[in-house]
Amino acid sequence: MKTETTIQGLTASLAPARSTKKMIGFVPTMGNLHEGHLTLVRAAKKICDVVVVSIFVNPIQFGVGEDFDSYPRTLEQDSRLLADVGCDIIFAPSVEQMYGKHPRLTNIRVNQITEDLCGQSRPGHFDGVAVVVTKLFNIVQPDYAFFGEKDYQQLAVIRQLVQDLNMPLEVIGVPIVRAEDGLALSSRNGYLSEQQRAVAPTIYQSLKQAEQQLHEGQALSEVLANVSAQLTHAGFIVDYVEARQTNLQPIERFDQDLVLFIAAKLGATRLIDNLQIHFKT
Ligand code: AMP
Repeated sequence: MKTETTIQGLTASLAPARSTKKMIGFVPTMGNLHEGHLTLVRAAKKICDVVVVSIFVNPIQFGVGEDFDSYPRTLEQDSRLLADVGCDIIFAPSVEQMYGKHPRLTNIRVNQITEDLCGQSRPGHFDGVAVVVTKLFNIVQPDYAFFGEKDYQQLAVIRQLVQDLNMPLEVIGVPIVRAEDGLALSSRNGYLSEQQRAVAPTIYQSLKQAEQQLHEGQALSEVLANVSAQLTHAGFIVDYVEARQTNLQPIERFDQDLVLFIAAKLGATRLIDNLQIHFKT
């Protein structure tokens, strides 16, 4: 496994794979890797010849007062984990390598679906994601790129971006990896105190309970209100509890497949999760 920190180095490392038409898989991350990230790498290994994992804490997707400075940076540990799952190349550039010394005048905005859900409380976040992902796609030029359904809205934004701009690659979504107690794995779980960590699985429990209530025929608005109340009772500050169609459009019929979305804070830590709910027709 190689680690490259410059665009030039990465391009040189990928040249043999490119010239022999090997399938290149790409997994963008912000590091502090856990089993969720490693599952993406394993999915990439299955269908690609060469797998590149980027580790880059992207400053422009963090808002003022968010955790850019404190975000965990654990490259040595990440490298060991990635070697174990057969990653071929780590791309770990500096902020300067990615954004240079010149002011950036280009923005990339995916309209509509970025204005909903997390876009409401994190203005500009998805613009920052779209810019860095586009840059990384241009640098790595992968055949396949792998993203987790943990960040369902992000995955939808990237699918839209790739489709709208004819980016020559396929986006693969990978299901959420959870801890045994149901908490979706996240680098931000490390911010939780022992007490908060014990409360955090309430998010998944409330999603599963909502699924059951919906299957029993309870009204969606009631079910969403129940989830919100349960989270507040457990000590969360709820950002949103919402339901959308799988393509993020508003729900139109009571019996259509949907996704439940939660964003809620425990202390200063903002957690997100979602659950896809299918109705038999
Ligand atoms: P991050 O390092 O948080 O930017 O995440 C990098 C990639 O890993 C994104 O595509 C995430 O959706 C994905 N990911 C993070 N946590 C999980 C998880 N628990 N299950 C599946 N994918 C995940």
